[in-house]
Amino acid sequence: MRFCESLRFVRHFCESRLANMCGMTPQTQLIHHPYSPPEGFAAPQPGVFKASTVIFANTAAMRARDWQNKLGYTYGLHGTPTTFLLEERLSALEGGLQCLLVPSGLAAIANVSLALLKAGDEVLLPDNAYGPNKAMAQGELAAYGINHQLYDPMDPADLAARISPKTALVWLEAPGSVSMEFPDLVSLARICRERGVTSALDNTWGAGLAFAPFTFDAGHGVDISIHALTKYPSGGGDVLMGSVITRDDALHLKLKATHMRLGLGVGANDAEAILRGLPSMALRYRAHDVAARELAQWLATRPEIAQVLHPALPASPGHAHWQAVCGPQGLAAGLFSVVFDKRFSSAQVDAFCDALKLFKLGFSWGGPISLVVPYQMPAMRQTSRAAWAEQGVLVRFSVGLESVADLQADLLNALNASAGANT
Ligand SMILES: *Cc1c(COP(=O)(O)O)cnc(C)c1O
Repeated sequence: MRFCESLRFVRHFCESRLANMCGMTPQTQLIHHPYSPPEGFAAPQPGVFKASTVIFANTAAMRARDWQNKLGYTYGLHGTPTTFLLEERLSALEGGLQCLLVPSGLAAIANVSLALLKAGDEVLLPDNAYGPNKAMAQGELAAYGINHQLYDPMDPADLAARISPKTALVWLEAPGSVSMEFPDLVSLARICRERGVTSALDNTWGAGLAFAPFTFDAGHGVDISIHALTKYPSGGGDVLMGSVITRDDALHLKLKATHMRLGLGVGANDAEAILRGLPSMALRYRAHDVAARELAQWLATRPEIAQVLHPALPASPGHAHWQAVCGPQGLAAGLFSVVFDKRFSSAQVDAFCDALKLFKLGFSWGGPISLVVPYQMPAMRQTSRAAWAEQGVLVRFSVGLESVADLQADLLNALNASAGANT
């Protein structure tokens, strides 16, 4: 029998096991083969462990299972060597102690809000929060009897005034989505700490590289950092994943209980893709940053553009706050927006976007391909709606990894071909 012949060459198996195996049908042998490869395999990337079922050594081990700690394995949804490894690397990146992986950045937001809020509570969000975070507050949270208020992210006093005994969670984002204002993060986080309210930062832009979410204020920071790993950690525009990172064990266990009950685990192949992206992430982030600043500075000189919104540019709102947490020579993501001069209609700005060849029309960011999206700002803001209604159309760019000269030529061509044709 070929199966038993091959077993003769396999060391480290017990004789009785061989005898048993030889009595089995091929159907069963193919499932219960005793060979295991030698330990100690080393390669640049870790192995990928795929599991729903985790096998226990005996009933005692099964009864003693603990899904809360990384002492062992219980079920694929609660962790495998692949996901534990990614969790530990991301905790180190952001300066946290505990990490949960979830299927998207938005799922990370949902994990936090659903774990920490109950009927009668109130959550505060910045008016420039990631849009779907606000939509969740207006949809699911409102339906569950959880109230929300939008605060002016550029006015810490406004946040302070809105905190009440009902406030159970404050969301922070730096800079704000699309409009790129950098808030006074130090003051906002301090207000939350002083008032004893849990603070959660959407740290996707900073990515754990531009500033340290748990220590940016002389060793203090926010309580929770969520990160859309979909963006820079993936770096490919091809994987969806999110993380929820904390430094507090009790808070982590509360988040983990909801993570477990809602079934928010991730697949091993996606975790592997993120693990592959991490070693090059700091280099990519810097390259995106350098290219985006060059293009932002060039666009600021163009007559078609009324304003460039990039926190590292001195004329951009919140520039001093960016400096305060990222440093005077600090990093920024490869993301910025421009406001067209008011003489350009929305249709002309659409024509500009359509004329771009290297910048593709698409959501998300952090991948190799440069992206562009035109936005209707007044509809997206409450506290600053009137001010946005006075301004021209906003376009956001995510700068990829193409050559800056080629991207600048693409922008110039599109300005000349469409919107610029009107001047
Ligand atoms: C993309 C993004 C998210 C959501 O991430 P997904 O993985 O696309 O769900 C959340 N917050 C910010 C700031 C983002 O840019």
